[in-house]
Amino acid sequence: MKKVLMTWALAFWVLAGLQAQQTWLYCGKLIDTEKMEVREGVTVVVEGDKIVEVRDGYPRAPKGTRTIDLKQHTVMPGLMDMHVHIEHESNPKAYEERFRKNEADVAYDAAVYARRTLLAGFTTVRDLGGSGVNVALRNAINQGKVVGPRIFTAEKSLASTGGHADPTNGVRRDLMGDPGPKEGVVNGVEDARKAVRQRYKNGADLIKITATGGVLSVAKDGQGPQFTMEELEAIIQTAKDYGMQVAAHAHGKEGMKRAIIAGVTSIEHGTLMDDEIIELMKKHGTWYVPTISAGRFVAEKAKIPGYFPAPVVPKALAIGPQIQETFVKAYKAGVRIAFGTDSGVSPHGENAQEFAYMVEAGMPPIEAIASATMRTAELLGLTDRLGSIAPGKLADIVAVKGDPLQDIRLMRQIDFVMKGGVVYKKDGREVVPE
Ligand SMILES: [Zn+2]
Repeated sequence: MKKVLMTWALAFWVLAGLQAQQTWLYCGKLIDTEKMEVREGVTVVVEGDKIVEVRDGYPRAPKGTRTIDLKQHTVMPGLMDMHVHIEHESNPKAYEERFRKNEADVAYDAAVYARRTLLAGFTTVRDLGGSGVNVALRNAINQGKVVGPRIFTAEKSLASTGGHADPTNGVRRDLMGDPGPKEGVVNGVEDARKAVRQRYKNGADLIKITATGGVLSVAKDGQGPQFTMEELEAIIQTAKDYGMQVAAHAHGKEGMKRAIIAGVTSIEHGTLMDDEIIELMKKHGTWYVPTISAGRFVAEKAKIPGYFPAPVVPKALAIGPQIQETFVKAYKAGVRIAFGTDSGVSPHGENAQEFAYMVEAGMPPIEAIASATMRTAELLGLTDRLGSIAPGKLADIVAVKGDPLQDIRLMRQIDFVMKGGVVYKKDGREVVPE
C-alpha cells in the first residue's frame, strides 16, 4: 500500500513538474489599453515570460500556483519611455565629469540608473544616445546580469561638426581633434552612410540624430538645422537597409521639416513646431515624443547660477518653458504622441512625472497611460509583444495602489513591477529576482 502511494506521489510530482509554473495576478482594476477602458475584478495568468490568459473574476488557482493579490490596485502594462539617456544624469559637475570618468565608471552609474528606471515601473526604454556603454548595459540586462528595463539603444547620437551631439563641443582645440563617422560626426553623404553602418556594427538598435541645435551642448545655437537634406536622406535610407528606425532631436522649424520629409520615425522635443509642421507630421505619420520633463527641468535649473555653462543658460531659458505648450498644440491637432521624458536630463526614476505634466496640459489620464504603453509599442513596431495585457504578449505588468485615473500623481508610486514574468517589485519593495 505504502509503495503504491509513493508511486502515485512520484507520478504527480513528475506531471506537476512538466506543467510550467504559473503566476495568477488577482487585479482590482485593469487598464485595457487596446479598448481604452477599465475592467474590474480580473485575473491575469502568466506562464514563463508571457501572459497566457485574462479571466473575469477571481477563480481559484490550481494547487502549487503562485498567486499575487493586487485587488486594491490598478494594474496596467509595463510603462515605456521613448527618450532616456541611461548612462548619465545632469548635475552641476556633469560637464567636467566627461574628462574624469572612464567607461567603467559610466557603466556602474548606468546600472544604478537602469535599476531605478525599472523600479519606477518603466519596463522598456529607448536610449537615445550615450557612449556605447548603453549597448553593453542592454546586453547585460537581457542576460539577467543587471536589473533594468528592456533597452532599445541608439548607441551614439549622430551630429554634424559642431552640431548638438558632436562629442567635442566646447573643449580645448588640442582635445577637439577631428571626430568623424566613427564618433558619430557626419559631413556629407558618405559620412552619413558610414556613421549609420558603424552604429549597426557597434550593436545599436536604432539611429538617433540631432537635426537641430540643442540646449545642453556648449554651443551657441539651440534651434538651427544641422544636416543637409542629402545627409538626412542618406542616414534614413541606410538605417532602413539595416531595419533601424531614426529618432530626430529637433527644436527649430527648418530642421524639423527636413527630418520629417526625409522620413524619420519620431521628432523629439519639437519645441518650435507650428501648424505647418503639425500638418507635415500627420501626413507622414511621424511620432511626437514631447519630453516636457526635460523642458521644465532645464528652465528651472538655468536660474541657479553656475548650474549650467554660460552658453547653455539662455537656450535653457528660451526653449525649456515652451515644450508643454507645444504638447498642447500637437495633442489638440491629433499628432501621434508617444511618451518620452529625456530622463538623464531630469533624474532617472522620476520618469512618471511626465504623466502629471501631460494631464496638466489637458490630456485625459487614460490617454497619457496609453501613450506610454500601446502608443510606444506602435512606435517600436512591437504591438505583437508589448503595449497591453493580453494573451501571447510579454508579461510586463505594473500596478499602483488606488486609481491613477482619478489622481495621475499616483503613477509616481508604482507598487508592483513584473518584467518578462519576473517580479522585481512587490508591496512597494524591491524583490531579488529568482
Ligand atoms: Zn535627449
